[in-house]
Amino acid sequence: MYSKTEFQDSSFIDDTEILSSLEEAKRLAKDVGAVRALLDKARECRGLTHREAAVLLEITDPQLEHELYSLAKEIKERIYGRRIVLFAPLYVSNYCVNGCVYCGFHAGNSCMFRKKLTMEEIDRETEAILALGHKRIAMEAGEDPVNCPLDYILDCIHRVYAYRNDRGDSIRRINVNIAATTVEEYRRLKAAQIGTFILFQETFHRPTYAKMHPKGPKSNYDWHTTALHRAQEGGIDDVGTGVLYGLYDYKYETVAQLMLAESLEKICGVGPHTISVPRLREAEGVDMRQFPHIPTDEQFLRLIAVIRVATPYTGMIISTRETPETRKKELDLGISQVSAGSCTGIGGYHKEIGQPDTPDTAQFKVSDNRTPDEVLTWLCEDGYVPSYCTACYRQGRTGDRFMSLAKSGQIHNYCQPNALLTFKEYLIGYASDHLKEVGEKVIDKEVERIPNDKVKALTRERLGRLEAGASD
Ligand code: SAM
Ligand code: SF4
Repeated sequence: MYSKTEFQDSSFIDDTEILSSLEEAKRLAKDVGAVRALLDKARECRGLTHREAAVLLEITDPQLEHELYSLAKEIKERIYGRRIVLFAPLYVSNYCVNGCVYCGFHAGNSCMFRKKLTMEEIDRETEAILALGHKRIAMEAGEDPVNCPLDYILDCIHRVYAYRNDRGDSIRRINVNIAATTVEEYRRLKAAQIGTFILFQETFHRPTYAKMHPKGPKSNYDWHTTALHRAQEGGIDDVGTGVLYGLYDYKYETVAQLMLAESLEKICGVGPHTISVPRLREAEGVDMRQFPHIPTDEQFLRLIAVIRVATPYTGMIISTRETPETRKKELDLGISQVSAGSCTGIGGYHKEIGQPDTPDTAQFKVSDNRTPDEVLTWLCEDGYVPSYCTACYRQGRTGDRFMSLAKSGQIHNYCQPNALLTFKEYLIGYASDHLKEVGEKVIDKEVERIPNDKVKALTRERLGRLEAGASD
């Protein structure tokens, strides 16, 4: 049970302010000069306020739209280069006491087979995820203080970090996506060396939140909306946020999302490390007719572009909820991290646990069923550099230390070599022959793009050592 004195003042999400921002934005969006001034400001990578971003959500002029998309691409390329970070979710338990009406795990879904992984199963899942070449996972669980208490999550985290496969590889960063909790529990998660604590707001619109969360601890809007502030208070300086697009109007949600980011920056000194953009998908035991707000692809691309230019240094994540076709466009406009080869059921990576005759335990249906090898080939063919880098986290460059490095422009001299070295490790250990061929070409080309000559030479040397059998 949480203490009533813990931070839970969610007044920074102000409904009147959101509506008035959108109202004013409709007017300003028709003023070509005003819109161009905002785009010019965003081009300097200083970010935009929620009011300014609202204007970009409202523009209808095709030429201005085109300018916004070009700018989103330009900013993405300037800050992140062509790198795309890969990860996989690991669902450890689908027990849940909440009633989220959109989720297959909701407590009232009697069709859902409930399961949580044993420690031996954690080993087998980790083995299977490592065999896909992953080094970074998002650990996911439903909320259930009895069947899935924090102690169980901590055991899972320790077990995954401790696991080594035959090549000596291990999971190097565990991001955690579990229910909102207390400062004390965040301290324990921090002590377990988690990467980012991720919590999706689902919807910022209070009446919709109440409708979507009719029962359980998650029905407390204020507690949920202030969780990332408490996480920072508990010492977790990389926090990730997101809206589940489809529950309410996407413009309202995007403005509110930026207000949350502003509040984190103001109160905690650093904004979110990542913003995820999940879009609602079909799920077992969920009636999809109750969601009239699912954004179209066009609307979805717009909100991605707006978030990209408004929060240039915040990583943006999409998952396999999106189809390969939309993922391609989303990457172009600002996404910097993607999941690949994902399973949203409990124990689904390891065939024996998720045998065809075992009941379905999946949270929702994924739309991109390609293997990581196929996803990586696709990324390379599109000119991207897949990255398995976890160096920032391992070297303590988190929170404001990461942000100041990113803002100094130095990130290229760190991230580009690390991306290439970790991709090289993937090619050596896990890639198909075809991907090896395509990937080596990408590496050759991208080494040349490293701006600093000394770093370039060092990277060549380290790539050579990996080729000769050393591990990095
Ligand atoms: N149970 C925790 C919670 O709700 O915060 C942890 C996260 S839950 C396993 C992961 C996320 O999946 C939820 O926050 C929600 O946004 C998303 N989700 C739930 N149902 C979904 C659906 N039908 N389609 C797409 N995403 C969904
Ligand atoms: Fe439980 Fe999270 Fe699903 Fe809600 S979204 S039912 S809390 S697993």
